Amino acid sequence: MPFSPLKLSQPIKQALDKSGFTKPTPIQEKVIPLVLSGQDVLARAQTGSGKSASFVLPLLELWSQNIPEGKSKIKALVLTPTRELTIQVAQTFKTFGEFLSKQPKIVSVIGGESIGDQLYDIQQGCDVVVATSGRLIDILNKKQINLSKLEFFVLDEADKMLDLGFSEELDIILEALPDKRQNLLFSATYPPKMQEIASRITQDAIEITIEEERQTVDNIQQRAIEVNRENRGPLLRHLLTENDWELVLVFMANRRATDNIAAKFRKHGFKAESFHGSLDQEDRNDTLNAFKSRKIHILFATDIAARGLDIDNISCVVNFDLPRSPADYIHRIGRTARAGKSGVALSFVGHEDSDHFKLIEKRSDVKLEREEIEGFELMGDAPKKVKGKAPVKGKRKSKKDKAREKALKG
Ligand code: AMP
Repeated sequence: MPFSPLKLSQPIKQALDKSGFTKPTPIQEKVIPLVLSGQDVLARAQTGSGKSASFVLPLLELWSQNIPEGKSKIKALVLTPTRELTIQVAQTFKTFGEFLSKQPKIVSVIGGESIGDQLYDIQQGCDVVVATSGRLIDILNKKQINLSKLEFFVLDEADKMLDLGFSEELDIILEALPDKRQNLLFSATYPPKMQEIASRITQDAIEITIEEERQTVDNIQQRAIEVNRENRGPLLRHLLTENDWELVLVFMANRRATDNIAAKFRKHGFKAESFHGSLDQEDRNDTLNAFKSRKIHILFATDIAARGLDIDNISCVVNFDLPRSPADYIHRIGRTARAGKSGVALSFVGHEDSDHFKLIEKRSDVKLEREEIEGFELMGDAPKKVKGKAPVKGKRKSKKDKAREKALKG
């Protein structure tokens, strides 16, 4: 189906054309009409499904049908779990609002950047605020933002906010919003805690489920390569030279390792950088932009920094260190093959993590042939498993226990 039945006006269609979007993704097909008709929506959708445009397009459409006169007042608030996602969503508003007769003012409210500039932009008047909750609450506490004219509240990737003491933050934010508003909630999963949050925010919401996880994974060629830990770096350099991958995202277990390995790869002539939560926001933005514009070809990243990254044309994702959970595995490999494209996901598996990878495969419902690359074959034996039961801590009676027993008996 093309975009035409979706009742979006000409300037928005023009921006869709410019972006090369010819037909809506399944989530856009379902969510856009619901938002336009004023419904609350609970959508179960992954990153990569096109969910950002599914709320940005109708919100721009509704805003443009009733452009407020005079100084802008905040009509829409979008909360996201990460700074990067906030910037991406704000950019999506700007991209699709480009041809409107008046463009909405969009402000990103995130930590790690000057609060003064953000306060200034808010006070100058803006139409849409895209925010991470911590910085938004700082600004709410300063009483420097007026959300009383708000009409739309969006929670994006809501399940990723759950672990951050989010429930209390949400209370503070909801307090600042008018009761009558339209609510849109996007989440990849719906654990009970999420349902509780959904019931606090939405009213008579229509639930939409997009089963895209399998489809996305189907476009990804998953490979498991056996290699000793110390050979992973040389193997990766070999693979990078042998293959024609344009952008490669390499996941590592910790920040220091990403810095060290990126420096090593640069010494070997690769255009590589590290990306993690300890970098300041400006560095994070610069690195991402350099990666997007292909000035850097290899990005060594930690899980936390890579959440919500939306970069097209990542040809290959490498699990240099395996992810901790099967959910993280799916999340990581989903960084490639976005929006229907294909991609490769490599996992380096050594003796130490062979059992862990089997568990990931089982839970993710895949079974991969183990490969070895000539010159980098897995050497040595797997560490022997200890047979029998491990001693149970605290099972032997202490002197005190014995004395107590004796006292009870006697
Ligand atoms: P999201 O799930 O919002 O992070 O979007 C994933 C990617 O899909 C982004 O790079 C979007 O630019 C792209 N995308 C979203 N909607 C469409 C569409 N209708 N046609 C082509 N690409 C799209």
